[in-house]
Amino acid sequence: MTETASITTEQLRLWDKRHVWHPFTQMQDWERDEQVIIVKGEGSWLIDSEGARYLDGVASMWTNVHGHCRRELNEALKEQVDRLEHSTLLGLASEQSIILAARLAEITPPGLDRFFYSDNGSTAMEVAVKMAYQYQVHAGRPERSRFITFKNAYHGDTLGAVSVGGIDIYHTTFKPLMFETLQAPAPYCYRCELGCNRLTCGMQCLDALEELMTGNAGLVAGLVIEPLVQGAGGMIVQPAGFLKRVRELCDRYDILMIADEVATGFGRTGAMFACDHENVVPDIMALSKGIAAGYLPLAATVTVDKVYSAFLGSYSELKTFFHGHTFTGNPLACAVALKSLQLFEQDNLLAALQPKIAYLKQRLGDFAALPHVGDVRQCGMAAGIELVANRETGESYPWEERIGIKVCLEARKRGVFSRPLGNTIVIFPPLAISTGELDMLLNVLQESILDVTE
Ligand SMILES: *Cc1c(COP(=O)(O)O)cnc(C)c1O
Repeated sequence: MTETASITTEQLRLWDKRHVWHPFTQMQDWERDEQVIIVKGEGSWLIDSEGARYLDGVASMWTNVHGHCRRELNEALKEQVDRLEHSTLLGLASEQSIILAARLAEITPPGLDRFFYSDNGSTAMEVAVKMAYQYQVHAGRPERSRFITFKNAYHGDTLGAVSVGGIDIYHTTFKPLMFETLQAPAPYCYRCELGCNRLTCGMQCLDALEELMTGNAGLVAGLVIEPLVQGAGGMIVQPAGFLKRVRELCDRYDILMIADEVATGFGRTGAMFACDHENVVPDIMALSKGIAAGYLPLAATVTVDKVYSAFLGSYSELKTFFHGHTFTGNPLACAVALKSLQLFEQDNLLAALQPKIAYLKQRLGDFAALPHVGDVRQCGMAAGIELVANRETGESYPWEERIGIKVCLEARKRGVFSRPLGNTIVIFPPLAISTGELDMLLNVLQESILDVTE
């Protein structure tokens, strides 16, 4: 037994409560409750310090692709660590980051060929925003400094990423520190700000978007969007064709389109990238979460030659992109990411997903019939089940009731780990989940919803 393995669960719980500050967590509640401590992973399962097993229903914060502790990925990591653990991209190139960029260029939408590495989704978006603005400066249009964003959007928690976000409960506190953006209505059909519903939807919200563009003509640097589905906003799925129309509007008003594929990238929607579904090529795309299969922090902001070449010039012109992170292009993360892309091919993962997506769709029909389910939304292997106090009126549960958290605690007793988004229950398992495991996940969530809401 190793030294750390001999530390008791009781001791770990004590130290956790005394020394660890958990993200997005009211620590007063946390300190009072008995916490699960994960020590092992196996496929779609997480195993705690007392040997209990939990199905990982949210792919460890939406990152896991091929399951936990997949042999080939572990070996790729071990092999790399014996060659080189880290070397900087500031002033040096490194093997794995080069191969990964070349490989990613083959699978990202055409023209997106230039990769700027960082280490998480927020930094990938900070890079995107700064890159877009500096591009406008180099193009001789420094007055184009505004960004169009969407209500309910989530792009990360650093200040630039928060500025382009649109979830009030996370963002309001920091308002004095944020820059202003132009916020378009979210394509949230269940609670349409414009009073439409799915039957009457003609994507009228795009008119509001276009008005922002005309009203700020010549002043907008870029538009930031989560393609197909707003994740953290509650798995809010856009009507088919929405993304394509947004691309057309960006073209018409000469605005850079920034696609945040941090959650949707790497197979989640059933295609490699969400943009692929509508043959959209953004000008800048942000990648993270699934990029290294959920193993290590890695991110990339990829752009087209038009943007990249605007930064070229003599040293004294100061067109350099003055941005960078210490662990940029980390070889361990890049080696795992490369192996992950190989596994996509070897396992024929995208094809294997299609029957699972169809099965999920079929089963979600059962959820839609439950008395306290207001809306069910699916985009590939991501789904959200919005619980409501009153199905007829769509009246929400008050957030203080923590209905989503209660359902997830119930699910945990039944061996499933999930984490809600407010009143929306999330289904976001590792892509490699088996149909039997998916079945269990759905059965448990269904029982737990009934238990808590009935
Ligand atoms: C998670 C997420 C981010 C932020 O990523 P972090 O790695 O948590 O900083 C940004 N955009 C989207 C769409 C996300 O889902």
